[in-house]
Parts: sequence; C-alpha cells; structure tokens
Amino acid sequence: MIEVIDLVKDFGDVKVLKGVNLTIEAGEKIAVIGPSGCGKSTFLRCINCMEDPTSGHILFEGEDLADMDVDINVHRRHIGMVFQQFNLFNNKNIIDNITIAPIHAGMQELRKQKRARRKAVFLNLFRRKDTAVPEITLDEEAVTKAAEQLRERKNVKTKSDLTAEEKLILSDEKELQKQLRARRRALKRQRLDVPDVTLDKQTICAEAEKYAYELLEKIGLTDKAKSYPSTLSGGQKQRIAIIRALAMRPKVMLFDEPTSALDPEMVGEVLELIRRVADEGMTMVIVTHEMGFAREVATRVLFMDGGVIAEEAPPEEFFTAPKSERLKEFLSKVL
Ligand code: ADP
Ligand code: MG
Repeated sequence: MIEVIDLVKDFGDVKVLKGVNLTIEAGEKIAVIGPSGCGKSTFLRCINCMEDPTSGHILFEGEDLADMDVDINVHRRHIGMVFQQFNLFNNKNIIDNITIAPIHAGMQELRKQKRARRKAVFLNLFRRKDTAVPEITLDEEAVTKAAEQLRERKNVKTKSDLTAEEKLILSDEKELQKQLRARRRALKRQRLDVPDVTLDKQTICAEAEKYAYELLEKIGLTDKAKSYPSTLSGGQKQRIAIIRALAMRPKVMLFDEPTSALDPEMVGEVLELIRRVADEGMTMVIVTHEMGFAREVATRVLFMDGGVIAEEAPPEEFFTAPKSERLKEFLSKVL
C-alpha cells in the first residue's frame, strides 16, 4: 500500500532521514520506536506530505507523493494523522470539529463535478455537428513499428534503394497518419458527454454529520456533540482527534506518540480506542513509547536510529532477541 524508497530529509545542514526504506502492506500495524530526535516525526510527516522529501520516493498505492506533478491533496485525504497535541479547533464544537474536513472534501468534489459539467456544456456550444468518427483501418502498432525499424535500417529519404515492400510500409504509415488526423478532427467536432453532478451540499453535510455521530457513539461521547473542546479531558480530546481522522475514511492511520501528552490515567482509554481501530483492520503506523502496547498490537516493530531503520522484526522477536547493541541498550532503558 505504501512503499518508501531511499527517503532522505535534510533541514539545512541537519541530515534527519538518511535513506529510509519500508514497505507497508494493507492491514499491517507498524510500531516505530527510537530515541528522541532520531527522525520519527519527520518520517510520518513526510508520508503525510507535511514535509517535502529532500530525495527518495513515497509510493502510495503506486503514485509517488514526492513527485511534484501528483495532486497530493487527493492522497492526503486517505491518510489520517493523529498528533501528540490533538489540535482541535477550540472555537468549534465537537461535531463541527469532526465534520469540517469531510465537508470540505465533499464540497471540493462537488465543485469539481460542476466545473466538468460547465466545461462540457460550454464546449458543446461549438460542437454542433454530431460527426461520425471514422475508424482506423490499419493496425496502428504494427505499422508504426515497421516504419520505425525501417528508419533504423535505411535512410528513407533516398527512396531509390527501397524495395517495393519497404515503400509499402511508408505508404501505410502515411495513410495511418491521415486516418489518425481525420479521427482527431472528428472527435473535436463531436459533442462531449455532459457528466452528471451527483453531489449536493445538503447531502454532503448530512452524511458527514451522520457518520460523525456514529463515530461519537462508538467512543461513548455522543452527549459531547455540542460541547467545546475546552470542556473535555485530555483523553477525551485525543479520542475525538482520532475519530476526526477516521471521519475522512482513511486507508491508513499515522499516530505520532498519541499518548505522550496525556496524564497517565487517560492513556488507557486512548490505547483502547487505537486497539479497536487496529482490530477493525486499519493499516497503521504508530510512533510510541508504550512498549507493551507495541508488543501486543503491532505486526512489526521498527527501531529507528541515526536516520535509518536500524532494525525491524515481529514484536516477540524484537523485544526478546534484539540483534544490535544499540537496540539492546535502548530497550534496557525503556523496558
Ligand atoms: P523524533 O520525532 O524522532 O523525536 P523529529 O523527527 O521530530 O524526531 O526530529 C528529528 C530532528 O530533526 C531533530 O534534530 C529536530 O531538531 C530536527 N527537525 C525537525 N523538524 C525540523 C524543522 N522543521 N526544521 C529544522 N529541524 C527540524
Ligand atoms: Mg517526535
């Protein structure tokens, strides 16, 4: 689902990521641990397109997010992120906090549909002729290939030393180009299909709200729908932040130390929710200092150190049989 290839990220002279390689399959739960400042957050921020990689590739379902021509906004919608600090909008109530992004995305989609429709209607003003589009009677691939091979072999401009067969190849090529031009011309004159606008604002808002209430119900906070974030506990806020990300129906969830800023008594309820999301099959990457949680929930644990993934293994092996001295030392401090 996600493939990270030779990811490098510098901040000026500071080399943070020095060539990270990682393949994440759908359904995997990957825990990332490592010393403070080793680049864990930077790594997640690169996957989420909040940082531009200095070099390397991040393939999300085959499309390279590091490629400047790719519309990352479309992809970012499929990547949910939860931070240490929950970043809720304090001047919006809980329901509005959860629905704002899905409504925004829906409205963007609606505008796109309207634009496409307007464009087709406008262009059709000049396309009065319902022209028949001529067929191509020659085999485009075969003719092009034969002509190409002929050009490699001979100078086709000096026609004199061409055989009859070779002359035929060239005349076929000429005919093919004529047909292709005629077809293009006809297509330009033909009326376009006018696409339907399938969305409308009311439905977008109603559906976003309906799903937001379902998610709130799931975490038992339906009664907080109209409350403001300042009236919630840290654990409640972080659980709202998680379902706010889920409201976009992401394909993958990234968690950056989601419990580090919480009072100890609130850690449990947040981990419990993340565990449920994991059990429902969500693909996730979670940076955490909760070793017990990583061991229980992760399918794979990575040790990030010195800007690379220094070691990785299934959780049992990772915690009971670390290979490198660095990881042994790190684990002896945190376990
Ligand atoms: P971690 O999450 O593992 O603690 P970070 O990814 O937050 O580490 O940071 C890794 C290094 O990159 C740190 O040395 C940090 O100071 C540096 N860094 C992170 N973001 C920036 C930035 N925007 N500008 C400059 N340096 C940064
Ligand atoms: Mg960090």
